[in-house]
Amino acid sequence: MALPSLLFAYDSTSNDFKQYMNLLEKQNTLYGWKDIKPADIPWEYYRTTKNKHPLMFVTFGNSTGNCILFLGGVHGDELPTVYFMFKLANYVKDNPALFKDKCIVIAPVINPDGFLSALPTRVNAGGVDINRNFPTKDWRANAMRQWMAKGKIKRYYPGAKPSSEQETQFQVALIKKFKPQKILSVHSPLNFYDYDGPSSDLNSFELWMEQICKEVDHPLKKFGYYPGSLGNYAGHERNIFTLTLELPSSDSKHGLDYFQKFQPSILKFINLPVAGSPPNVKLIKNYEKSGGAS
Ligand SMILES: [Zn+2]
Repeated sequence: MALPSLLFAYDSTSNDFKQYMNLLEKQNTLYGWKDIKPADIPWEYYRTTKNKHPLMFVTFGNSTGNCILFLGGVHGDELPTVYFMFKLANYVKDNPALFKDKCIVIAPVINPDGFLSALPTRVNAGGVDINRNFPTKDWRANAMRQWMAKGKIKRYYPGAKPSSEQETQFQVALIKKFKPQKILSVHSPLNFYDYDGPSSDLNSFELWMEQICKEVDHPLKKFGYYPGSLGNYAGHERNIFTLTLELPSSDSKHGLDYFQKFQPSILKFINLPVAGSPPNVKLIKNYEKSGGAS
């Protein structure tokens, strides 16, 4: 699935891209992530960060509908989230029969500058928290005001203006291009599932989530959303089923444990039938009958 041809695509066989793959593989070796192979994946990229790192993604499956978008490494110091997404990309690539009628988009490292910095950082190279920089309706009124009221903690700096950062524009472009009905963004270390999305369908989806959370023994929390957060932009404002998986720690050692623990619930989320395009996306009737919609 190619992006519109008017956009200039970088060459993922170029030396610059190979260099980036080498950097990632070096980092993966440092963390002991020997079982993931980023270089095997047919990445695309159209943008780079302040430090000139590619903002890459991959698409799998034949469907153009019922698309699911996966985001990892939004905060560069949440190390196992990056492992998780690379592992997922390898898994989907190695099992094409399972996903051929799906549309799966995976962007494993949203904030490569933070992830690849000598001491990985939550914020990007411009010092901005990418999960406070989305152009939500309440950004101008509240983002800066709330940040200042909470003590101007650098880790949560929302940026000078909404969508000021390449990493934010990248995610907005993915949402606009692929119009995903579902998004899964993986973070750490708060240890819960959180959900933002269509409120008319909230009850049936919450029942589904409660079941999933019981199965994986992971609590569901309504954490709320912030000015400029993905949950606000995609879930609240655009009615996309937006799940945040907060892993239990940011320790790079636990990548594989977490992938194994959460993989069944991720596969169920991929397979969860929804109909329509945002903003009118719904769980489909068959599910509502069996799941008990309000
Ligand atoms: Zn995070």
